[in-house]
Amino acid sequence: ATPTAVMVATGKGASQGVLIKGGDALEKAHKVKTVIFDKTGTLTVGKPAVVHTKIFTNMPLQELCNLASAAEANSEHPLAKAVVGHAKKLHQKYGSNNDHTVEVKDFEVHPGAGVSANIDGKMVLVGNKRLMLAFQVPISPEVQDYMSDTENLARTCVLVAVDGLICGAFAVSDPLKPEAGHVVSFLSSMSISSIMVTGDNWATASAIARELGISTVFAETDPVGKAEKIKELQMKGLTVAMVGDGINDSPALVAADVGMAIGAGTDVAIEAADVVLLKSNLEDVITAIDLSRKTISRIK
Ligand code: ADP
Ligand code: MG
Repeated sequence: ATPTAVMVATGKGASQGVLIKGGDALEKAHKVKTVIFDKTGTLTVGKPAVVHTKIFTNMPLQELCNLASAAEANSEHPLAKAVVGHAKKLHQKYGSNNDHTVEVKDFEVHPGAGVSANIDGKMVLVGNKRLMLAFQVPISPEVQDYMSDTENLARTCVLVAVDGLICGAFAVSDPLKPEAGHVVSFLSSMSISSIMVTGDNWATASAIARELGISTVFAETDPVGKAEKIKELQMKGLTVAMVGDGINDSPALVAADVGMAIGAGTDVAIEAADVVLLKSNLEDVITAIDLSRKTISRIK
C-alpha cells in the first residue's frame, strides 16, 4: 500500500477505536485465514467470580481465603482478582477473627500456572494442577474429583496449597462476552476459522469452546506454547492473527502475523501487539480485517 493509503486506513481505524500500529500489520491482515483467540479476558468478560468454595482439610474457610488472598494480592491476573474479591466479600459479611496484617515474602508469578508466596511463614500456592505438580504437591482423588466436577461445568478450579498440602479450592466462573459467539460465526462466513488457546484446562476450555461454536482448542498451554502453536500454523502456510489481553499472551502476539490486543488488557500485551482494539469489543477484529481487505483491494 502507498503511504497515503496506509495513512487514510489507519486514520479511519483510529476513528473507530482500532489502533493499527503500521503499514505492515495493515497489509498482512487481509490475508488472515485463522484467528486464534485467548480465552480469559478475550472471549470471556475477564471478570471471573468465585461461585463455590471447597475445603479439604480442617482449615477454617476464612483462613483459607485470607491466605489465598494475601498471595494473590500482587497478581494482575483476573483469577487473582476473583480470589481477592471473594475474600474481601467474606470479610465484609462476617468480619474477621484475625485482623492482623499478614507478612508476604517471596511473592512469585508462575505464568499459566498461578502464584506462590510466603505468608506469615507459610508456603502458599494458588493456582492450577500444573503449579501443584511443579512444587511436588500431591493431588488426592478427592481433589481430583472436585476439579473434574468444576471443570465440566465450564468453571475454572483454583487450588490452594499450604505447606505442601492442598487445603481448599475455589470454583471460578467467567461469563462469555456477549458478542463472542456471533464474531466466531461472522468470521466463518468470511472463510476465517477461529481457534481458542488457553492456559486453562481441557475440560473447562472445551465446554466454553462448544458454547461458542469453536471446534479447535489448544488448552493447558503456557505462554511459550501459545506462540509455538502459532508458528506451527504458519509453517502450514497460514496467515495467523492472535487476539489476546494478558502478559501471558505477549509472546503469541509477537509471533502472530497480526497481533491484536484488547484495549482493556495489560500494558505488556498492548505493547506487543500490532493492532489495539481500544473498545475491547471483539467485533473490531472484523473491523480491522475488513479495513485491511478494503485498503489492499483498492490499491491493487
Ligand atoms: P488464559 O490463557 O485463559 O488467559 P492464563 O494463561 O493466564 O489463562 O492462565 C492459565 C491458567 O493458569 C489459569 O486458568 C489458572 O488455572 C492458572 N493461573 C494463572 N495465573 C493464576 C493466578 N494468579 N491465580 C490462580 N491461577 C492462575
Ligand atoms: Mg487472557
